[in-house]
Amino acid sequence: MIVAKPKPVEEVARLIDSCDNILIVACGGCATICLAGGEKEGEILATALCSWREKQGRTINATVTTITRQCELEFVTDIAHQVKQVEAIVSLGCGVGVQFLAEHYRDKLVYPALNTIFAGGSVQPGRWEERCGLCGECMLHLTAGICPVTRCAKNIQNGPCGGSQNGKCEINPQLPCAWHLIYEKLASLGRLDIMMAYRPPKDWSKGKSGGPRSVKREDATQR
Ligand code: SF4
Ligand code: SF4
Repeated sequence: MIVAKPKPVEEVARLIDSCDNILIVACGGCATICLAGGEKEGEILATALCSWREKQGRTINATVTTITRQCELEFVTDIAHQVKQVEAIVSLGCGVGVQFLAEHYRDKLVYPALNTIFAGGSVQPGRWEERCGLCGECMLHLTAGICPVTRCAKNIQNGPCGGSQNGKCEINPQLPCAWHLIYEKLASLGRLDIMMAYRPPKDWSKGKSGGPRSVKREDATQR
């Protein structure tokens, strides 16, 4: 899932300072699960923005709606009637959601109310951690299911940098060294041969450095 954090209310209030009639669009997907941009957070934001305006002696009409996922056009189009009634949209989706709304509703400005942080998961209630670097070439079979693209501070792909101390990363001693974790797991499985084997350099061109990527499945496009 995508993990995001709400922008401070003051920041959102400043972004929409010129608008008096907005639609706050919550996202029922990842943004709800990470407690950043679901229906409840939408209502809280609307109330906070109204209070902010009141303090300035002004008013704002902030309507809240929730769509299942902002990253799917079929849900984005569902709110056309509500979008027509407002000056601007405030998205509580991740960056994908903001862009899908902006691409579809071309006559409206769409303001982000979240900061999109990473692709990860919930490790305990109220805590999420990054797990996937979206590199386009998954090598987790070589690293005991532990992703050095995200979990090694230097993104090293072929073994530790040599700086770890007591299993902790030299860049951030609060975090485990990813390669220490990889070694420990492979050792426990009796598969250190995987770690020792030569592996060619990673093909980073499949990652995010070459502009936006796309995926096309012919079987799905013909449905
Ligand atoms: S728009 Fe973003 S936050 Fe919402 S479901 Fe899609 S990926 Fe998740
Ligand atoms: S100590 Fe481990 S996790 Fe930290 S940068 Fe070096 S190899 Fe990567």
